[in-house]
Amino acid sequence: MMPLTILEYPDHRLRIRAKPVTTVNGNLITLAHRMLDAMYVAPGIGLAATQVNVHRQLLVLDVSEDRNDPLILINPVITAREGELETNEGCLSVPGYYEPVIRSENIRLDAVNSDGETFSMDANGLLAVCIQHEIDHLKGKLFVDYLSLTKRQIIRKKLLKQQKQRD
Ligand code: ZN
Repeated sequence: MMPLTILEYPDHRLRIRAKPVTTVNGNLITLAHRMLDAMYVAPGIGLAATQVNVHRQLLVLDVSEDRNDPLILINPVITAREGELETNEGCLSVPGYYEPVIRSENIRLDAVNSDGETFSMDANGLLAVCIQHEIDHLKGKLFVDYLSLTKRQIIRKKLLKQQKQRD
């Protein structure tokens, strides 16, 4: 199977809002595992289906140091937030750029797991930040949207130039 291609900013397909997953079937789980492979290879700590041009509410994460604790979240919804945390965020769709973004430090969310079961979980710190970043992708939002217009335009220009040189 061909490896998944990760879309790069400012590709307009990154702005499409993902639709909820209605059935957790074999195809979806295969996609989740291919996304995990692409995320580990990249390497990254999270990947949303939007980034591989599939507009369904599916994301994969692994913030563990040993890269052996994958998490698959389907139709994730944040139900509570607390505190603030600023971290330097990066994104596989915005390669090479890391900028400070403020997120909630603790979150609670509802999601569906790879067995199709609904569950709730609490997340804090890096995991909470990563989940918020990936859920933004499902809404067509990128971390550069939190930066100043000037900063965003500089990043956009440089990435477009890189993409042109590659093609
Ligand atoms: Zn991202």
